[in-house]
Amino acid sequence: MKSETVPASTGRSGLSAITATPMPAHRDDWERRVLADPNLLRDMADAIGGPFHLLYPQRVVRNIREFQRVFAGQGVVGAIYYGKKANKSPAVVRACARAGAGVDVSSAQEFTAALSGGVRGTDLMVTGPSKSTRLLSLAVRHRALVAVDDPDELTRLGALANGDGPARVVLRVLPPNSTSRFGLTCDELDLALTAADEDSIRLEGFSFHLTGYAVADRAELALALIERCREARGLGHPVTTISIGGGFGVNYVAADTWRTFLDGVNPRWFHGDRAPESYYPYHCPVPGPAMLAAILEHRRLADHLRAAGIRLAIEPGRALLDRAGSSVFRVQGVKSRTAHGHRYAILTVDGTSLSLSEQWFESEYLPDPVLWPARPGALSPTCVGGASCLEDDMLSRRRIPLPRPAEIGDLLVYPNTAGYQMDSNESAFHELPVPPKVVLHTANDAAISANGELRWRLDGKSGEC
Ligand SMILES: *Cc1c(COP(=O)(O)O)cnc(C)c1O
Repeated sequence: MKSETVPASTGRSGLSAITATPMPAHRDDWERRVLADPNLLRDMADAIGGPFHLLYPQRVVRNIREFQRVFAGQGVVGAIYYGKKANKSPAVVRACARAGAGVDVSSAQEFTAALSGGVRGTDLMVTGPSKSTRLLSLAVRHRALVAVDDPDELTRLGALANGDGPARVVLRVLPPNSTSRFGLTCDELDLALTAADEDSIRLEGFSFHLTGYAVADRAELALALIERCREARGLGHPVTTISIGGGFGVNYVAADTWRTFLDGVNPRWFHGDRAPESYYPYHCPVPGPAMLAAILEHRRLADHLRAAGIRLAIEPGRALLDRAGSSVFRVQGVKSRTAHGHRYAILTVDGTSLSLSEQWFESEYLPDPVLWPARPGALSPTCVGGASCLEDDMLSRRRIPLPRPAEIGDLLVYPNTAGYQMDSNESAFHELPVPPKVVLHTANDAAISANGELRWRLDGKSGEC
């Protein structure tokens, strides 16, 4: 943090020293249309009477198709399992079913939600640490692929498979030099390969999941696992699959926007002069499908997979939700404060920062909210607080350069929140209702640019999209 390099107050009415640089998010067409519509957002806000999330499932379909195109382009058999923990919406699962993607689940509840969204049991992957017996039984019954995370789980699965079996299994690998609590060590893998009884266990391959967004680490581990696959086949296992997990980046903001922020960020931009120590990388130069392409190109991984007849599975969560949703709050209070001799606004919105998860990781969600409706005015440094009694309940601690002073009744639209932000930490704190999700679609499901009318309905209610 460069707290001593605050630029002199210049331009922007002398406010720049206490105001963060703008962080406009990349936006999809559907968002532009929603923001440009004179009535749509207001109608939804009036009907719902509290904060809400917008989802545009057609964008999920498009994201899935872009990953599928990368697999096809490189001649690799691929399988996509949506990492369901990134968003709970049934509409996202239905988008997966429509686009031919599977779902990666970690609880019996996620498992049944995926089934009822139309995803076949055989297209489910079950990951997570020692799984409940209920979840393992569902997996065996529905022939889902289980990523086994400890040796005992293999024994339990073998016992459950009696009658319904064999259980379909990949072994989750502890990456080299990793301190992860997940995965099997080399010794545990060796033992599993010899101990797995083919009547009850069908060993279909190996999996891993890495934190961070490193291309080379994923490709190198996949290459090493191709050797493991050959070895397992030598032992008689019908190995078909390597899963390289999730962790495909999302590009929220432009490179120069991100650079300008990182170069200038300092505690004076934040309410209480308190800046986070680190930030999620909101600019990603090689996001989602491009990252998959880079992985497949690394040391000709694609060729090696093809030669070995191995299917590559991926488990993207965040990347399938890129630009598929935003979160809308209504301004219910505006007060004025002074920092370092400059006035700024603190807004209170009608929801809490539980609906913006990044705020719960001692960091800050950096893509700027849009103040709606757009009107001319003077730049106004603005922090955003939640409607709770917690000092730390702030949706934006930094002073955002809003294009005009916000007023009671205005809406704040936080962009690109579908991946992890909107619902992973939500609770009915203060007995405030959990914000509903509104699913948007075009009347004829045509490309949004074809000017089909935007329609909306509450998520989880009847409807096809
Ligand atoms: C969380 C998780 C994912 C999804 O990760 P993203 O970063 O959202 O792509 C995939 N696989 C496993 C095992 C996970 O735990």
